[in-house]
Amino acid sequence: MRKISIFGATGSIGQNTIDLIRRDPDSYDVVALSGGQNIAQLAADARALNADIAVTADEMRLDELRAVLLGSGVEAAAGAAAIREAAARPVDWVMSAIVGAAGLAPGLVALEQGATLALANKESLVTAGQLIMGTAATHNARILPVDSEHSAIFQGLIGEDMAAVERIIITASGGAFRDWTLEDMARATPEQASSHPNWNMGQRITVDSASMFNKALEVIETKEFFGCAHEQIEVLVHPESLVHALVGFNDGALMAHVGPPDMRHAIGFALHWPERKTLPVERLDLAKIGALHFREPDLQRYPALRLAHEVLELGGHAGAIFNAAKERALDGFLAHRIGFLQMAEVVEEVLTLLSPSHCRKNAEMTLDTVMETDHLARKTADQVMQKLA
Ligand code: NAD
Ligand code: MG
Repeated sequence: MRKISIFGATGSIGQNTIDLIRRDPDSYDVVALSGGQNIAQLAADARALNADIAVTADEMRLDELRAVLLGSGVEAAAGAAAIREAAARPVDWVMSAIVGAAGLAPGLVALEQGATLALANKESLVTAGQLIMGTAATHNARILPVDSEHSAIFQGLIGEDMAAVERIIITASGGAFRDWTLEDMARATPEQASSHPNWNMGQRITVDSASMFNKALEVIETKEFFGCAHEQIEVLVHPESLVHALVGFNDGALMAHVGPPDMRHAIGFALHWPERKTLPVERLDLAKIGALHFREPDLQRYPALRLAHEVLELGGHAGAIFNAAKERALDGFLAHRIGFLQMAEVVEEVLTLLSPSHCRKNAEMTLDTVMETDHLARKTADQVMQKLA
């Protein structure tokens, strides 16, 4: 039996992970599950999987969690420190599926225990790539990417030499506003931005898909995880979301990863790696699909993509600034405080304000320096939004 923990268990990735675990319960000994506001789901899963401990991020809801777990034998805990403590419990495999920068600390703690980290929380690599890769190396821990594009790249690189890689192409569906005019995008509401044409995901990443901030995070994630130059990373709009990524080699070959838009593929790949096991995902009928389309993204409509390359040029803590400013701008958009296109304006302004002091390339990076930068960027984003409003 493999010991596993799932952080962000109540979210979209967490629930897909639990779906796979529950199909084969005898293979897994579940140690910790974490969630946020959905106490009922967290408790139900903790009971069903017979977890040792269930942790909610919300300290105010500890009593409620305790009450619903009464008699189950599952320990209840709450708060960010309790999540980190749960992440320190020894396991073989950890799913990191908290959304946002809050996912960084528990992932680092899990790596320090030498656990294999299935990393859905792309914000970890964006805010602290050097730190998280360094921690994995120091503790001989493995990181397996769970973002669909990065799982696809990882699979395309099996048995290959990075020196032979010329370019890495990640695809983007184009999100909810793929075919909208700029004028319409400027007036878009959170409700309109919260539905995705192909994928069923959490609300925040769905809105980030419409703005391509998600793809911008993924460009940074690609650079940090695979260690390529940022000039080697390309983004292609691919409305069908069936080709997730392509790796281009020095002999002109392109290795494409093709699969249904179902996160259980990338999660299952990371769960079973280095083996491949049968997964309950749709088998594609390419003859029925007929055609796949690709086009270049319009950088005017998607300034986030340009900003991603600027972040990688800047280096240092630019990723932490970018992510934190993006998270606050997204909060502002969801609260109807700023418009859809203003999210990129806010992020760009925060980068301009903070990069002179926070983007030294050889600056030391620790969890503290990252969280300080994150905090400052959030505060600065709030000030920028106040001026805009
Ligand atoms: P979600 O919103 O559905 O779930 C987020 C989870 O994190 C929930 O369990 C929630 O309770 C928890 N959480 C939220 N704020 C927290 C905090 N401050 N502290 C602790 N826990 C907190 O999100 P999701 O779509 O499952 O995405 C999770 C991560 O995976 C994100 O980083 C996202 O970018 C990445 N990802 C998701 C998908 C997808 O298909 N959903 C695909 C690729 C990558
Ligand atoms: Mg992705």
